[in-house]
Amino acid sequence: MDALNGVHIAAWLERAADVMEREKVLLTELDAAIGDSDHGVNMARGFTAVRVRLGGLDHGDVGALLKGVGMILLSTVGGASGPLYGTLFRDAGQRAAGAAALDLAALAGCLEAGLDGVKRRGKASPGDKTMVDALSPAVDALKAALSAPAPAGEPARSPLVDGLARAAEAAQAGALATVPLIARKGRASYLGERSAGHQDPGATSCSLLLRSLAATAGV
Ligand code: ADP
Ligand code: MG
Repeated sequence: MDALNGVHIAAWLERAADVMEREKVLLTELDAAIGDSDHGVNMARGFTAVRVRLGGLDHGDVGALLKGVGMILLSTVGGASGPLYGTLFRDAGQRAAGAAALDLAALAGCLEAGLDGVKRRGKASPGDKTMVDALSPAVDALKAALSAPAPAGEPARSPLVDGLARAAEAAQAGALATVPLIARKGRASYLGERSAGHQDPGATSCSLLLRSLAATAGV
């Protein structure tokens, strides 16, 4: 697979809806420790709404598709993460406007635009114990895959599939690395030092999204 078209993106979103439903308890437990116990329910509600309304979105234009998903998430997820995930997809979609498919370079640009939007809206930087701690290393991994492709090996992977695998690994490592951090943004920041020792729920859901995307590409 060399590029993600609308059908691939739709398959990703269907898978993400399954994963959010399956991991609802985990995300809620993580949010119970440093927040208000709603992140799992928020994400499952949002991605279920995306699944239900997916058929009505334009699959021929990946930009329009991602933007449409952003609007659905914005109005259904709720909490602090709703507007942030809404912004991620909307800004990614804006960057991809008119594209029928995204190759590795286009995907990296698109996710970077989404990350920039999240950072602008939430005013979080890497290390603040938020979803940015999973998303930012994932964008870096995609860009690294662009400039330093993996040597051809076994199993042979296209640059896109290699990039997706590296992004999913980076996001997971980023989410795990939030454990010792003290939250500086969002509800968890009210706990101060007591937020340390727990994995950030939003970084975890973001890692699940990137893992789902890699799985869609067969990784
Ligand atoms: P709420 O905190 O309103 O209950 P959720 O529980 O759905 O919302 O989401 C919490 C997650 O949102 C956090 O774990 C964190 O990753 C993310 N988050 C919160 N505030 C910010 C922010 N300012 N910037 C980036 N991410 C944030
Ligand atoms: Mg919450």
